[in-house]
Amino acid sequence: MNKSDAERIASVFEDAGLNETKKESEADIVITVACSVRQSGINRIYGKIKEWQDIRAKRPLTTILSGCVLKSDRKKMNKFFDLIFEINDVSKLTDFLETNIASEQKFFQIHPKYDSTFQAYVPISTGCNNFCTYCAVPYTRGREVSRPMDEIITEVQRLIEKDYKEITLLGQNVNSYGNDLKDDTTFTDLIKKIDEIEGTYRVYFYSNHPKDMSDELIEILPKLDHFPHYIHLPLQSGSDKILKSMNRHYTQKQYLELAEKIKKNVPEVAITTDIIVGFPGETEEDFFKTKQIMEKVGFSMPFIAKYSSRPGTVAAKLEDNISKEEKEKRWRELTAIQKEILSRENKKLVGENLMVLIDSEKKDKYYGRTDNYKVVELPKKQTDPIGQFVNVEIIDSEAWILKGKI
Ligand code: SF4
Repeated sequence: MNKSDAERIASVFEDAGLNETKKESEADIVITVACSVRQSGINRIYGKIKEWQDIRAKRPLTTILSGCVLKSDRKKMNKFFDLIFEINDVSKLTDFLETNIASEQKFFQIHPKYDSTFQAYVPISTGCNNFCTYCAVPYTRGREVSRPMDEIITEVQRLIEKDYKEITLLGQNVNSYGNDLKDDTTFTDLIKKIDEIEGTYRVYFYSNHPKDMSDELIEILPKLDHFPHYIHLPLQSGSDKILKSMNRHYTQKQYLELAEKIKKNVPEVAITTDIIVGFPGETEEDFFKTKQIMEKVGFSMPFIAKYSSRPGTVAAKLEDNISKEEKEKRWRELTAIQKEILSRENKKLVGENLMVLIDSEKKDKYYGRTDNYKVVELPKKQTDPIGQFVNVEIIDSEAWILKGKI
């Protein structure tokens, strides 16, 4: 979502006649899009402030902060930034820049300056009603607002006409899309409609909330042509006590039943997840339950974060009683479990032919992802396949990467 926000900010700036530079040392204006969950992300901004102050001592530099900025962050950071604005007010940036561009444009209407020519993020909703206790989103982006379906379809259609190969539908709680719309549109209606668009492309969607994963969605997914059998299903913790304290609205049992239902209905589905270790009050026993659920589900990839208290959120009122060392230990334990699972699972893919979208290169290698989001490394050939789907034979595997040849 931060990337998508940045694309919209870039577009407003470009319309105002400014040019983008990838080098911070050349910039006259720098903007930071702050993270919604981890305080460590906010802390990193302070490091940047120091760098910018050094630049400012030598030449003018305008600094702007947006993204998930809580009132408490704003108070502390006001003096370091020329402007702090709420991301939903991105169109008003033009007022700050004193140009004549209409500032009544709304967030969704701003046509983003896509960062890639073959991969694009398309927000379908913004804000969230869930109030997970560790998260700033409901306070910074407000309640959930779904974007009208025809607007989304038009944006996706245009991207496909321009030969975009990978589209990611974004929302803080993507699968509750439509709950606030008056016409009963659901997320399933939306993806069915997108799937009807002809072309060679694939569509992902992030992030799902387990409580909003409907049977209808699970049943429709394997019937669609452009939606890989891939679901990101944030778990956060395997302990009911911690889940309650996080205000997640599901239990370990319910999550497991849901994962089983998905596996049963969606052939060869890849399930990825988010896990937070070291949440306040997480005992060894609670952590054990997270390990247990990891083994049981066999995630294709977990994104594991060490809890860092974000002042201004409800969880920040709880004592952050797990030491840094213990969080690190738990993080390493989960990573080791995952490494073992992936080493085992990836070996089964050796010898298979998989469709891979090549998205980057480094020295003499290309990198891309399979439909179920596994990274594949390929030796470079003379023809340039970046941005193309290629058929790859998997010849070797490691825990975090597959190796193949075109
Ligand atoms: S679902 Fe929870 S973690 Fe995700 S944006 Fe909403 S409040 Fe934050």
